[in-house]
Amino acid sequence: MKVIDHINSAKGNTLVSFEILPPIKGKGIDAVYKHLDPLMEFKPAFVNVTYHRAEHVFKQNPDGTFKKVTIRKRPGTESICAAILNRYNVDPVPHLICGGFSIQETEDALINLRYLGIDNVLVLRGDAAKNETAFIPQPDGHRHASELLLPVVNHNKCIYLEEELKNSHKTSFCIGVAGYPEKHFEAPNMQTDLQYLKAKVDAGADYIVTQMFFDNRKYYDFVEKCRAIGITVPIIPGLKAIAVKNQLTVLPKIFHIDLPEELSNELEKCKSNEEVEKVGVEWLAMQSKDLKKNGVPVLHYYTLGKSSLVADVIKQL
Ligand SMILES: Cc1cc2nc3c(=O)[nH]c(=O)nc-3n(C[C@H](O)[C@H](O)[C@H](O)COP(=O)(O)OP(=O)(O)OC[C@H]3O[C@@H](n4cnc5c(N)ncnc54)[C@H](O)[C@@H]3O)c2cc1C
Repeated sequence: MKVIDHINSAKGNTLVSFEILPPIKGKGIDAVYKHLDPLMEFKPAFVNVTYHRAEHVFKQNPDGTFKKVTIRKRPGTESICAAILNRYNVDPVPHLICGGFSIQETEDALINLRYLGIDNVLVLRGDAAKNETAFIPQPDGHRHASELLLPVVNHNKCIYLEEELKNSHKTSFCIGVAGYPEKHFEAPNMQTDLQYLKAKVDAGADYIVTQMFFDNRKYYDFVEKCRAIGITVPIIPGLKAIAVKNQLTVLPKIFHIDLPEELSNELEKCKSNEEVEKVGVEWLAMQSKDLKKNGVPVLHYYTLGKSSLVADVIKQL
């Protein structure tokens, strides 16, 4: 079932959903089940699975020279989605990225998802490769999420790269895109970023999922600004529980977001990880209750290996 149909059939009730990462290469599917099993009692409407592009690293040869090797630390997004559908009968949402994909590979990925019975995709540009300072698209790939939307929308209209294909199967992927209540870090200003977000919606996105935020005011302002420029699709808040103290500096650095002073002051006082988790859960519960009271369509939790913290929050709703 499509994410948008889940939202519409909830008739104004707030749903919950989760985002998980594929396990580090070498681990089994049990790692996914161990993480998700305890969250299933909350009946998520859907579960997102992130996509991680391959990285290039240099390894030393026995003679002291270096060779460039390509590694993918967290492979298996599509298969994990199929496993989630099979085990829990919950709709998986694979992330689809521009980085590392040619146009042909994108089309093949969509065909695979269709064969697996998956109805949803979250269309993203993807982060820059670890050893690159800025995002570089594949020579024959897509530069922006708005460009990557086109093959998905085309797929939904039976338009393939080989235009002469006859009697081709029609898909109906529901498409999500990312939005940034605190602005995407590369955008020169909020207004420009919002215009590009609107371009993604105009190109066919059915809903938006936001980057994590810790101050609900930022989400409400963002929604207001989106509505003011004619973005009418649901805007799903992305939420995360702070779990370790160094996230005070790591989250702003990686995700280009602010932590409210009140939250950072409380975290500074913590002497152990248990104390940090307690503050993280209390803050996220406070955010979640407020968002629910204000009628958000879905509370989307970035679980990042910490399902017990998310469970503690949802139990309070
Ligand atoms: C909910 C969510 C899930 C994510 N999941 C993943 C994941 O699984 N894997 C992963 O690698 N990363 C993931 N990311 C990170 C994301 O890929 C990065 O934030 C990336 O830097 C931007 O992706 P985007 O889809 O927002 O890009 P875009 O929409 O392409 O925007 C990127 C930048 O370009 C600008 N821009 C957009 N369109 C145009 C245009 N046509 N011309 C010029 N400028 C333009 C925007 O203003 C913005 O500054 C996720 C982010 C979010 C919020």
